[in-house]
Amino acid sequence: MALSSNSEQHSTNSVASFNVNQIRASFPILSQQVYGKPLVYFDNGATTQKPKVVLNTIEHFYNGINANIHRGVHKLSEESTSAYEAARETVREFINARSTKEIIFTSGATASINLVAFAFGEAFVKAGDEVIVSEMEHHSNIVPWQMLCERKGATLKVLPFDDNGELILSKLDEFITSKTRILAVTHVSNSLGTVNPIKEIIARAHASGVKVLVDGAQGIKHGVVDVTSLDADFYVFSGHKIYGPTGIGVVYGKEELLNALPPWQGGGDMISTVSFEKTVYNELPFKFEAGTANYIGAAALATALKFYKSVGIQAATDYETELLHYATKRLQEVEGLRIIGNAVHKASIISFVLDGIHPYDTGMILDKMGIAVRTGTHCTEPVMAHFGITGTVRASLAFYNTKDEVDKLVDGVLRVKQMFG
Ligand code: PMP
Repeated sequence: MALSSNSEQHSTNSVASFNVNQIRASFPILSQQVYGKPLVYFDNGATTQKPKVVLNTIEHFYNGINANIHRGVHKLSEESTSAYEAARETVREFINARSTKEIIFTSGATASINLVAFAFGEAFVKAGDEVIVSEMEHHSNIVPWQMLCERKGATLKVLPFDDNGELILSKLDEFITSKTRILAVTHVSNSLGTVNPIKEIIARAHASGVKVLVDGAQGIKHGVVDVTSLDADFYVFSGHKIYGPTGIGVVYGKEELLNALPPWQGGGDMISTVSFEKTVYNELPFKFEAGTANYIGAAALATALKFYKSVGIQAATDYETELLHYATKRLQEVEGLRIIGNAVHKASIISFVLDGIHPYDTGMILDKMGIAVRTGTHCTEPVMAHFGITGTVRASLAFYNTKDEVDKLVDGVLRVKQMFG
């Protein structure tokens, strides 16, 4: 990883002071046994575990506050509404958006991308226009754009990556034409681990008047995300991948852009008045939040973000980077193991294949040793097609993982090799 000497110094200091045992104690699930073995949870790319404070928020909310938001004058409804809107402010602050009007709660990153693909598409994409995605996108950041292109008669263009898993940015300028309306790109690849230079991509797209949606499902938990400094038009993520609950997600969108888009779904809360002749839509952010919101999910997400901040976002990322380097080095020692995704800048995600052994078999045997990894295509079939493989074994590490657990993974992989002769 190309770190400057200053950041190396900073990283060494913060890693040395990172108290992983204390952090692990905050996550009740991590102390359990699986098949009589201590759980080694390496499936953080799919979902992260939840600290006790997040679980407490959910319990406390249902026990003491629960009432539907925005519609009641009674005390519980007012408290519930305050907690929901306070959560919006916590998210705003966490990603440094300018206004809470720019923070829309959804059910997750997938819903967030569908919202933008639909609403942006309705407002700005017409027949003959072009939309760009990259070859390393999760299906969630491909299919909604394909659906939009089919609906409008637009063309989907795919920016390729090279065999290290780095986007071929020298092609970007030739890909962007006067017909390009939006570019949708992931911050961090969930199968390759690549951290894309999104600030540079955004600046280059903007130079041609092209808007950018960043899929932050993995990127939101890799270092500090500052949407204002990035100048992202849209940045989306899910709560459950950043130590929060399932069923809650976020669209960040620039206020002037969101104002220019039509609503995505119709229903309660997104309206200001309704009659059979004419409905007037609510203002931001409510215009995009039809129906009963997941207000408890939002409050628990806010707790998760505060928890992550209290751990130290940069310290956690530095620690994960050190774990990544250690795991990469150790796995590379295994004969017949090939790491898929060797970008210079990587988040703590390692995909690999073993000569002659199906990823599924590897995953099943590791599971019996208490080691949870993900196997398959990771919802990135085009990435697998690029490498001509059917799938990988993926270990995605979080700040509560340890080198000792990495050693267990390596021992497990060696055992798999032994079993398959
Ligand atoms: N994009 C990326 C890069 C992801 O890793 C994921 C989840 N695996 C998603 C989008 C979709 O997130 P969700 O399933 O939480 O909507």
